[in-house]
Amino acid sequence: MKTAELRQAFLKYFEQQGHTIVPSSSLVPHDDPTLLFTNAGMNQFKDVFLGREERDYVRATTSQKCVRAGGKHNDLENVGYTARHHTFFEMLGNFSFGDYFKREAINFAWTFLTGDQWLKLPKEKLWITVYAEDEEAFNIWNQEVGVPAERIIRIGDNKGARYASDNFWQMGDTGPCGPCSEIFYDHGPEVAGGPPGSPEEDGDRYIEIWNVVFMQYNRTADGEMLPLPKPSVDTGMGLERITAVLQGVHSNYEIDLFQDLLKAASDVLGGVDTTEASLRVVADHIRSCAFLIADGVMPSNEGRGFVLRRIIRRAARHGNKLGASGSFFYKLVAALVDLMGDAYPQLRSSQKQIEKVLLQEEEQFAKTLDKGLRLLEQDIADLKGNEIPGETIFTLYDTYGFPVDLTNDIARERGLTLDYEGYEKAMEQQRERARAASKFGIDYNAAGIEIEGKTEFTGYECIDGHETIRTVLV
Ligand code: ATP
Ligand code: MG
Ligand code: MG
Ligand code: MG
Repeated sequence: MKTAELRQAFLKYFEQQGHTIVPSSSLVPHDDPTLLFTNAGMNQFKDVFLGREERDYVRATTSQKCVRAGGKHNDLENVGYTARHHTFFEMLGNFSFGDYFKREAINFAWTFLTGDQWLKLPKEKLWITVYAEDEEAFNIWNQEVGVPAERIIRIGDNKGARYASDNFWQMGDTGPCGPCSEIFYDHGPEVAGGPPGSPEEDGDRYIEIWNVVFMQYNRTADGEMLPLPKPSVDTGMGLERITAVLQGVHSNYEIDLFQDLLKAASDVLGGVDTTEASLRVVADHIRSCAFLIADGVMPSNEGRGFVLRRIIRRAARHGNKLGASGSFFYKLVAALVDLMGDAYPQLRSSQKQIEKVLLQEEEQFAKTLDKGLRLLEQDIADLKGNEIPGETIFTLYDTYGFPVDLTNDIARERGLTLDYEGYEKAMEQQRERARAASKFGIDYNAAGIEIEGKTEFTGYECIDGHETIRTVLV
C-alpha cells in the first residue's frame, strides 16, 4: 500500500465509524502563542477539548501536518540519527469530544491495525504500553482485546528521559493532557533495540506507531490539573511509520515517498548514495521547509522564522557535506510537489514562492558557509580537549550566520561537545557592546544575517535535548 493510499484508508475507516473527516490545519497554530508549530492532530481541537468551543460533530478524523523542530516536542536533532523521526510528518488521528472513551478508542485502533478488512498486521508483533496506574486500560487490552499480559507494559511518569515513553501525554506546558496507551510494532531481531520501557528502547526495533490519549485534564499555567468537562479521546499515528510497517521496511526513509524524494535529492546532488545520512537529512528538511513556507512562515531571526532558517541552513550544510556546488535545496521543491501536491494543493500553488524563498536563503548563507566551516575546521584541528570554545561558537553565529544547533550538529559528528557557557558569556559581552553602541546611534549587527531593525530577539535553541529560550543579538 502506498503512503497516499494508507492516508485514505485511515480516514475512510474512521468515517465508517461515524467520524467527520476534517482537513489538516495550518502548521502555524491559529491564535495560540504558547505553541511554536502544530505538533499534533489535536492542536486544532484544543478549544473543543477544553469545552470552549462547540462543533457540529463529536467524532472527527484527520491527517494533520506536523512539525517538531522546536518547542516542547523537538526532533530536529534526531533527524539523520533515527529511522523514525522527521521534522515534518503527517499524524493520522481520531478524536472523540466527550463521546466515546477508552474502550471504543482501543477497539477502533486494534480493528484498524489487525482487522481482516483493514491492515491485517500480525497481532504477535504488536506491543502495548499503558500508564502504570491505568488498570482500566490494561484490562481492556488484556481481557477484552486479548493481548497477552507479557506484551502489555506499564509505564510511569518518566519525565527526565529524552526518548523514553512516559505515557502521560501533554501538548505543551499547559493545555489538555492525560494518560495514554501506545502501540508499538516489533521490526524484528535484526534491528537493534529493546521493548518499550526497557533500557534499550532508544533503538529502532520496537517502534511506537500509535499513541491513544485519554484526555482527562487541563494543565494550567501554575501546574494545576483541572478535570476536563467531558473525558475525550485524542489519538495520533505517524503516517510514515505505519507505512514503513505495511511496506515491510524498517526505516521511514525506505517507504515509497521517501525513496522518491531521496532519488530526487541524489539526482540534484550528482548521484549521491541514497542511504547517506546527510541525504536523509536533506530529504527530511525539504518537507518541513516547503510546508512551513506554504503556510506563510519566512526565514528570519526570531521565533518561527528563526526555526525555519535553522532548518534551511542545516540542510545547506548537509548538502555542502555531500559536495553540493551552489544552491541545490530549492531544486527539490518540484519533486516534493509531484509527490504531495495532490494531498496538499496549497503546496502546489505555492511552489514558485517556496523556491524563491529557499533560493534566496541558500544564496545568502552560501556567502558565509564555506568561510565559517574553514574557521571551524581550523579550530577543531587546534583543539586540545574535546570541547569547542564558546568564542568559536559565538563567532560562527555572529559573523557567519551559523545557528548554534548547526555548530552542534557538526560537533556531534566528531564526538565533540560545545562550551555553551563560554558562548553565553561572549553573547553577553556582545550585548554590552551593543547597548553602549546604541547610545551613539550606531547599528550593531551580524555580518551575513539580514538586518531586521531590531537589536535583540528571542530564539529557540535546543541544547543537549533541553529546550531553552534565549535572547541573542541580530
Ligand atoms: P517517539 O517516542 O517515537 O519520539 P512520541 O511519543 O514523541 O514518539 P507522540 O507525541 O505520541 O510521539 O505522537 C504520536 C505519533 O506520531 C507517534 O506514535 C508516532 O507514530 C508519530 N510521530 C511522533 N513524532 C514523530 C516524528 N518526529 N516523525 C515521525 N513521526 C512521529
Ligand atoms: Mg518524541
Ligand atoms: Mg514516545
Ligand atoms: Mg507517544
